[in-house]
Amino acid sequence: MTTFNFCAGPAMLPVDVMAQAQHEFINWQQHGCSIMEMSHRSKSFIRVAAEAEQDLRDLLNIPTNYKVLFMHGGGRGQFSAVPLNLLKAGQTADYIVSGAWSTSAVEEAAKYGQLNVQNIRQTDANGSRSLIAPKDWQLTPNAAYVHCCPNETVDGIEFTALPDSQSPIVADLSSTILSRPIDVCRYGVIYAGAQKNIGPSGLTLAIVREDLLPTKESIIPSVLDYRLAAENDSMFNTPPSFAWYLAGLVFKWLKQQGGVTEMATRNQIKASFLYDYIDKSDFYSNDVDTAYRSWMNVPFFLADERLNDMFVDQSEAHGLLALKGHRMVGGMRASIYNAIPLEGVQTLVSFMQEFERVNG
Ligand code: PMP
Repeated sequence: MTTFNFCAGPAMLPVDVMAQAQHEFINWQQHGCSIMEMSHRSKSFIRVAAEAEQDLRDLLNIPTNYKVLFMHGGGRGQFSAVPLNLLKAGQTADYIVSGAWSTSAVEEAAKYGQLNVQNIRQTDANGSRSLIAPKDWQLTPNAAYVHCCPNETVDGIEFTALPDSQSPIVADLSSTILSRPIDVCRYGVIYAGAQKNIGPSGLTLAIVREDLLPTKESIIPSVLDYRLAAENDSMFNTPPSFAWYLAGLVFKWLKQQGGVTEMATRNQIKASFLYDYIDKSDFYSNDVDTAYRSWMNVPFFLADERLNDMFVDQSEAHGLLALKGHRMVGGMRASIYNAIPLEGVQTLVSFMQEFERVNG
């Protein structure tokens, strides 16, 4: 049975990538050991690391005045790293709240400095969950930065426009990076935990505009210090080397598939296919304003919540894994990152139709 894993993260990885990693797991490129067992300072690993960086630069068209950092600590590590690196004494940072993860980012950053928090969640005329458009955000003049989370993984809500801001925009792209083209120049810092569209957990990407690197005198914990990471090619301490290697394989796979433009085409088709079915059905529903529906994380609800457990059990038996919704939202959630093919979404919709036919 073909299985499709709809987990929000750690998430499904491309099968071709997993097969290659498996093939060279024990004896990487005839070196007699696994890449996992190899010094991060060895020529071979440095080549793998540099190639991964270059491939990512190509995929996202990252300008030369941005550093690409391969860090530890996950998305939450970056919740601390951002204020520690960018928020100086006496400054304020704008924090835009659109869901669960941007709320957590606020809680962490508030430990380090003065924040101006703006809740952009609202309910639209149809009672759907919606957002205030970026052009209408109230930004603080001279803020150190504007932090936002364009795709909220738990809430299934996504915005793609950015405000015209004098201050650098810092974006948590953990669950949307590489799913569609972005203009990196519009951001001061982009960060993302790897475990959705990049590779295994344990690796965190930070793409940082050079002029935002902190000064040498800072007291930032060294493993979160963007300058130290940049000056040491992300090898100030031992990097998550296996995750870095695997991310590199994912980047090569993405290039072979046609890059992020092709991913955007596929992702839009996948998401529309699922939302269209949900919208047509009286048995399932999604409560997000159509203008802000996430391409990556699709929460949906059964009209009769008593059927939830049966839905989860039966979907798993059909090879459709991890559809149970986040505990904060309930219902179901299908995370349909790059590695999920259209066939996975079609199989899910067929299952949903059949479940509706039998139980509706
Ligand atoms: N930001 C977003 C958008 C996320 O989806 C997640 C994790 N799902 C995080 C931050 C936290 O990431 P981590 O668990 O790697 O700290």
